[in-house]
Amino acid sequence: QPLPVQTASDAPASAALLARASEVIPGGVNSPVRAFRAVGGTPRFMASGSGPWLTDADGKRYVDLICSWGPMILGHAHPDVLAAVTEAAARGFSFGTPSENEVRLAEEIVARVEPVEQVRLVNSGTEATMSAIRLARGFTGRDVIVKFAGCYHGHVDALLASAGSGVATFALPDSAGVPRSSAGETIVLPYNDLPALEAAFAERGHEIAAVITEAAAGNMGVVPPAPGFTEGLLRVTRANGALLVSDEVMTGFRCSASGFYGLEGPYAAGAPDLFTFGKVMGGGFPTAAFGGRADVMALLAPQGPVYQAGTLSGNPVASAAGLATLQGCTPAVYERLDVVAHAIADAVASELSAASVPHTIQWAGSMFSVFFRDGAVTGYDDAKDQDTGAFRRFFHSMLGQGVHLPPSAFESWFVSASHDDEAVDHVIAALPAAARAAA
Ligand code: PLP
Repeated sequence: QPLPVQTASDAPASAALLARASEVIPGGVNSPVRAFRAVGGTPRFMASGSGPWLTDADGKRYVDLICSWGPMILGHAHPDVLAAVTEAAARGFSFGTPSENEVRLAEEIVARVEPVEQVRLVNSGTEATMSAIRLARGFTGRDVIVKFAGCYHGHVDALLASAGSGVATFALPDSAGVPRSSAGETIVLPYNDLPALEAAFAERGHEIAAVITEAAAGNMGVVPPAPGFTEGLLRVTRANGALLVSDEVMTGFRCSASGFYGLEGPYAAGAPDLFTFGKVMGGGFPTAAFGGRADVMALLAPQGPVYQAGTLSGNPVASAAGLATLQGCTPAVYERLDVVAHAIADAVASELSAASVPHTIQWAGSMFSVFFRDGAVTGYDDAKDQDTGAFRRFFHSMLGQGVHLPPSAFESWFVSASHDDEAVDHVIAALPAAARAAA
């Protein structure tokens, strides 16, 4: 059946902005999944956000289930975060010297995630994983990195092999422009497959600096680690002198106050040596971090030989936003995220069932995604084996009814603590028509 794709006439101001943007920005967007390539139609250019609502350039309102791909855990323009940002900005935007806000943000992270003794602040999740890998290589004196298919760790050369997120959305095997030498230092293994990991270490264990994994995968849709998988990663890395890097850019401070580690850890086999964070800890501003064992972090310049730096790293305004957001993440916030996520997911399941649309919903804390297929998804091949056409029809029906989902079948849905009953009811009311469109 034809796709009920929203056309330019549904969003004339966005269409006009897209035309202008496309003249000066490749594809009209500054990050590929925003472009609606996978779902078709006109991406909405947002003019403002408040709590759970976004308002586009045409003045149409949407309940936001992207939440900026994770950061907006308290909702848009939260008054406490706005006050902190305003206060910090009034005192200056960037000094290029150390300042107190970055210390407070680092203290907050270290206090929350028990194995993290020190952190360094950076500007994006990509920088965090890139720097964690350089540090792991510097610490071990080895070059090879193991990653898992379907996990996305940002657009770092060495980590773009079989990556999820936009790379999955556009069905790219890998990215052009990554040197063969760089990809050659990366071993890609199936997620949740310990025998494959053991075999790789049996062959090349003495060359492997680190295994990097999403603490719970969220970039091929949500695929949590199978029971014992993280313990196995720890056991194998420990036995071979390699480090384990737990990428909590998406899950950090969202799945619990201490991230996915707070749900699954502590582990009998030890703790991940390094963690990466982003999204929630920046409260919507460009701030991220990597951190972990103090003896590993001690290798960073200026103390040690591993170089890493940034003009805007630890920016006082961004740090204020992150700090206010983390301080706002009370137990009540996590309870509300659970209530909202389950209310929406339960309604999605029952409407898709009523319309006989195959689906599977998977969870990591309050992060969830809807796979348009029957049966559990344990890795990337399963995730790719879904009815993306059904997703597209579902997506556009929801968009037309004022609910903005992530425009890809390979992404987590995100809610915020500001999603009140009105917003949840608005989402639930849109579901029957969307499920019928997907059928
Ligand atoms: N790691 C994970 C798990 C992510 O989900 C992302 C972004 O989606 C990144 C790293 C990269 O972060 P950024 O987009 O801030 O560079």
